[in-house]
Amino acid sequence: MPAARLSDLTSQFPGYDADSVSVSVAQQLIRSFILPITDTETLPLKAALGRVLASDVVSFINVPAHDNSAMDGYALRGSDLGDQPSTLQVVGVAYAGRPYNQPVMQGECVRIMTGAVMPEGCDTVMPSEFVLSETATHVTLPAGKIRAGDNRRLAGEDLAMGSAAVTEGKILTPADLGLIASLGIGEVSVRRKLRVAYFSTGDELRSPGEPLDEGCVYDSNGYTLHGMLLRMGCDPIDMGVIKDEPASLETALRRACMDADVIITSGGVSAGDADYTRKMMTRLGEVLFWKIDMRPGRPMAFGRITSGNDSALLFGLPGNPVATMVSFYFFAREALYRLMGANPPEVLTVRVTSSQSLRKKPGRTEYQRGILSMDAQGMQSVQITGSQGSGILSSMSEANCMVILHHEQGDVSAGDSVDVIPFQGLV
Ligand code: AMP
Ligand code: MG
Repeated sequence: MPAARLSDLTSQFPGYDADSVSVSVAQQLIRSFILPITDTETLPLKAALGRVLASDVVSFINVPAHDNSAMDGYALRGSDLGDQPSTLQVVGVAYAGRPYNQPVMQGECVRIMTGAVMPEGCDTVMPSEFVLSETATHVTLPAGKIRAGDNRRLAGEDLAMGSAAVTEGKILTPADLGLIASLGIGEVSVRRKLRVAYFSTGDELRSPGEPLDEGCVYDSNGYTLHGMLLRMGCDPIDMGVIKDEPASLETALRRACMDADVIITSGGVSAGDADYTRKMMTRLGEVLFWKIDMRPGRPMAFGRITSGNDSALLFGLPGNPVATMVSFYFFAREALYRLMGANPPEVLTVRVTSSQSLRKKPGRTEYQRGILSMDAQGMQSVQITGSQGSGILSSMSEANCMVILHHEQGDVSAGDSVDVIPFQGLV
């Protein structure tokens, strides 16, 4: 169930006006409406890559379990190192997985391999390459090369017993899988996958494989949405293309409610054709229709649709292909992560020089598609990818970053710094 009614939430924003909502207010409203799913499943560790960890993985051992050597060399008592070379008696050998099990006394040392447990009494390892001379029984070590305590890895220095190795909400990375394995744990509890149904609306839309009738376009949003959802670890449910008519829309929305946690539609929410969409969505649930102060992607619907006992979160994204993607990334993405119980991965912004002037009107956020590059001196700069029309999907394909021109920001001169979000990390 939703945390609150949308109408109650909007009243918490003084001056809220559905026809002029800032990007940041829309994001906050969406955030406060989301309640994470709680269902979990247990998976073998390798199958959990990219999934959301459902409970903290606590280390019940020290990793590493024992103090051990970081180098091949001689384990010794640090107090035996002097300001002159010292000759020590070699009393044994310690291998990784095969320890030397007797105490080491003053004036003694043990030949030791990387990863071998430090013998009792030893706190320091002299690396082999520093050794001045060695026989089967004695070794002469230099002064001043290392200090007492050097080249020893401490028990628990990676993970201390009782501490959380990976915390709930983490989207599991290759490093996390390894870290959990290093505790000897072979399976983990993760949140179930989010089911996201999507469909494109428009009488003019044809699917690849169909003939392109006059005045028609091929549906591309169904494909960008599929890709974006899959990359986020959702289970996408493709509902195809839905005609611009109330009955088809109602059937599609009701079916999506049954099958999915979230419904993402594209098209049909702009002022021209919003009327019956608005009526239908409003009849089936609580949906806000926004005009967001942004470019591309001004119109958007957000809310919850109910059909019988089923309900689903709804994002009605604008139909223009770039607007669909930008609205997805800056509104749906974070919401989907929160819904799946994840800590949304931080979107990293870098500040770089714009190699050209950019026109920008204060009072709206602009997301221009850019190419971030580095010159021979290692200086980074960004230029935008030609025409920035919201239907020019090739601009998204060519780009490797988004240039964010903030709400209050005005024109940019060549050489000014701008905020850029590299696609790596966002997509
Ligand atoms: P709408 O938001 O429905 O008014 O659509 C705005 C523009 O985006 C129109 O030119 C549509 O033809 C185009 N459009 C809408 N949906 C899609 C889609 N799924 N794939 C490609 N273009 C679309
Ligand atoms: Mg349309």
